[in-house]
Amino acid sequence: MSNFKTTEPTGLTRRDVLKLSGLALGGLAVGGVTTSLGGCNNAQADDQCTSTSCTCPDGPTCRWDDPAKAQQYSYFNTLAPFEPFSTLTPSTIPPLGENELRITFLGSAIPQHARGQMMMSLFVEVGWDSSKQAPRDQFVFDCGAGVSANYAAMNIGFGRMDKIFLTHLHGDHMSDLIHIYCFGPSSDRKSPLYLWGPGPSGVESPPGSGKYYDDGTKAFCANLRAACRWHTESFSFQSTSYTPYIRPTQTSWGLPYSPIPVGDDAPDDSYAMVPIELDWTQYGKTPGDNVAYHNPITGVKITHFPVIHDRKGSVGYKLEWNGLSLIYTGDTKPEIHSRDQAINGGNGVDVLIHEMVVPAEIWAMKMLRLTDPAEVPRETVQQLQTVQNSSHTPQGAFGYLLSQISPRPRLTVATHFPTTDDTVACAMKSVQAHCKVIQGRDPLPQENAARITWSADLMVITVSRNQIREFKGDVANFGFAATYQPPPGTLNTPKYHYPDQSGPTAGDPYAQIDLSTEIPACGCNDTCNYREDGY
Ligand SMILES: [Zn+2]
Ligand SMILES: [Zn+2]
Repeated sequence: MSNFKTTEPTGLTRRDVLKLSGLALGGLAVGGVTTSLGGCNNAQADDQCTSTSCTCPDGPTCRWDDPAKAQQYSYFNTLAPFEPFSTLTPSTIPPLGENELRITFLGSAIPQHARGQMMMSLFVEVGWDSSKQAPRDQFVFDCGAGVSANYAAMNIGFGRMDKIFLTHLHGDHMSDLIHIYCFGPSSDRKSPLYLWGPGPSGVESPPGSGKYYDDGTKAFCANLRAACRWHTESFSFQSTSYTPYIRPTQTSWGLPYSPIPVGDDAPDDSYAMVPIELDWTQYGKTPGDNVAYHNPITGVKITHFPVIHDRKGSVGYKLEWNGLSLIYTGDTKPEIHSRDQAINGGNGVDVLIHEMVVPAEIWAMKMLRLTDPAEVPRETVQQLQTVQNSSHTPQGAFGYLLSQISPRPRLTVATHFPTTDDTVACAMKSVQAHCKVIQGRDPLPQENAARITWSADLMVITVSRNQIREFKGDVANFGFAATYQPPPGTLNTPKYHYPDQSGPTAGDPYAQIDLSTEIPACGCNDTCNYREDGY
């Protein structure tokens, strides 16, 4: 039992207060019903929280204290396996169809959460270039804490992670950047790292102070690059560039301006960090004003639009390719741009990936290791409610938003969510209360229905014109990292190299260290301290 049971000043328990406030909410909802769009109904009074039973999604059969439901996502385990490493030729990337798009979740959680869910990151690949045995184009969207291990497990090497689109600069969306930036050049990214993200927020900090920080992506990159100086120099006895690297231009990648690295790195060096800062206020009102990337060779177009999250300057992205489309909202409150982008001028989108947050009292209950929301201290709920109110989309709002999108996305994915059987069951109930026609996991969407799923780490979704399929990455917890794919050229001489030598093997591993206190190795005979070959 908990020590946190509270009694309201009126003598009512929180449970009683919830009942009363729920009744009030129900009344409001009846008055608030306006329109009903295409098969989805607005919430009715009986969908509202008239008692705490609404926090227990399946009635008596679902309890928040059921350990089995609280510690697994059993649906995910039913998905067909996706094998990132071919057993026949382990170095190859699992091919996509010519006209297929593949989305992989490397992180899917809201902080702080479970070991089984890292912070946010998606990897999107399009089409297949059989001459290169690689996707035609590929992108990282956000890269929060812990996702690097999942990238490695899923055979997605650093060389394929050179285009990173950040929705905003919260730590749970960018904190693995240090790892990706620093270790890419030691692996197979021998070219610069390109980073898209919003420009400065323009928020006076705080109001009345007259102070405006440069909190945009360019300044972030400049500071991050400088902060990583010790790392980048220390590893520069290895080659960090190759010839002939063809640098992208504003035209070749369809960028808003010419890509120029921060700092003093050579523009073809893999320690060069190239920000592409976006005007986050734009959303395509004037055609083309929100294009982040439009590659005429691969055909991929990525546009951005503002969302509402904590502080001005968060964006969502839409990727369009070969008649397929995908939206990733990043973190946001429910708002009109995500809705309108998903309506897409009446054409709809194939996949809508939108964040969702559990009710504040459930969030608090879980973190306090309680099993009854009525036991959570009011202050704790209020604290999390302020987070939700400034930043996120509640379950019911997610359903309502979906009800306003016609035609429906072929698949809607709830993400940034603590995914377990009990939280998903509760969330589904809230979504259904606001959007009646939800198909759940039915693989064949009916006309005007909304097919919905919840993301989990290593979930793989393939999208083609005739089907959308979900898989579960089949990986080894102790497997080695992603395949090394050498760049298509000659590696250049490292920055720290033996005098009078050139080429990638000329790197001098001793150039930056003092060997006067070293215990030396020697040849492989019985009298040596230890063998230089490592054995
Ligand atoms: Zn955020
Ligand atoms: Zn977040």
